[in-house]
Amino acid sequence: MEPSRPAVPLLDLQAQYQPIRAELLAAIERVCDTQRFILGAEVEALEAELAQALESPHAITVSSGTDALLAAMMALGIGPGDEVVTTTYSFFATAGCVSRLGATPVFVDILPDTYNIDPDAVRAALTPRTRAVIAVHLYGLCADMDPLLAATAAAGIPLIEDAAQAIGARYKGRQAGAMGPIGCFSFFPSKNLGAFGDGGLVTCADEAVAHEVALLRNHGAEPKYLHKRIGGNFRLDALQAAVLRVKLPYLPQWTNGRRANARRYAELFAPLEAAGLVTLPIEPVGYHHIYNQYVIRIPDRDRVRRDLAARGIGTEVYYPVPFHLQECFAGLGYAAGAFPNAEQAATSSLALPIYAELTEAQQAAVVGELARALGR
Ligand SMILES: *Cc1c(COP(=O)(O)O)cnc(C)c1O
Repeated sequence: MEPSRPAVPLLDLQAQYQPIRAELLAAIERVCDTQRFILGAEVEALEAELAQALESPHAITVSSGTDALLAAMMALGIGPGDEVVTTTYSFFATAGCVSRLGATPVFVDILPDTYNIDPDAVRAALTPRTRAVIAVHLYGLCADMDPLLAATAAAGIPLIEDAAQAIGARYKGRQAGAMGPIGCFSFFPSKNLGAFGDGGLVTCADEAVAHEVALLRNHGAEPKYLHKRIGGNFRLDALQAAVLRVKLPYLPQWTNGRRANARRYAELFAPLEAAGLVTLPIEPVGYHHIYNQYVIRIPDRDRVRRDLAARGIGTEVYYPVPFHLQECFAGLGYAAGAFPNAEQAATSSLALPIYAELTEAQQAAVVGELARALGR
């Protein structure tokens, strides 16, 4: 008989929910008692609290991270004939929204050590038709923003931050989503600040852009039934706002928990790392990683992943296929081999459990099982 090991899910939302259950249910009850469910006081209060927490002049909640990207690009006037340069390695929404607006996504490779967009590749991809660049702060680590901001400023185009995985992350002291003209966040339940359903946020510096996003999220109507723009229903529910208002004050402590877990993984993985069997995520000097995902690289990834699953260890692959090799983008004409760093990451990266409530014993189990699967 082997000693019993704790099962380790990739994410355990129950562990976050149970300690604050009463607070959350009280907030939900408060909204139910008002019978006001769309926008309203709860949403406005959340927006003020988020603007302050994220150090952004304006914060406009929307219905999802996807709709945040869509509304942001609509507010910037992106449409048919425009090119938008972005990474080939991210969650689908980053690229899908560009195509939904009739614009053309232009993909570039990532840097192998951070998984984030390569600023030199962005500069090389700019053309007179480029209308924006989207930088994704993947896994909770900011993209290298200074050269990206310099390149977009020189070209006279906006840099959109897809900060869906990076709420509270920093780069040289500045917050994700507040470094460029416009930032997009997601409150999908698996993000570091998760709602009880879908939700999203647009942050921006400019009052006129903020007004445009607010218009677009409500069918472009101002006042009611008079439509200045063709927008959509991108509104956040009051119930989600109430849940997020309870959770927001806990975000710093949850982030600290994730960062502490990352430090513990670094210690536990030291022998495997020294043996060249795992590559751990990095946090360059001047960056503050919030570890929405803790992504390592290993040889023989798919076999190891199946092996871990059989031993009760939850993992995930973010992302198995880069955008330029997705069927829906075949018409753009990219070939396999076009972006070797992203393609290599897609075949070797593995996300491990990193949520704040993970115990020491669970982390030891993850590392022990990985070592065993790698033959150590
Ligand atoms: C989650 C995510 C989105 C989309 O957010 P949803 O709220 O799921 O629509 C966009 N971009 C990135 C990088 C994400 O991780």
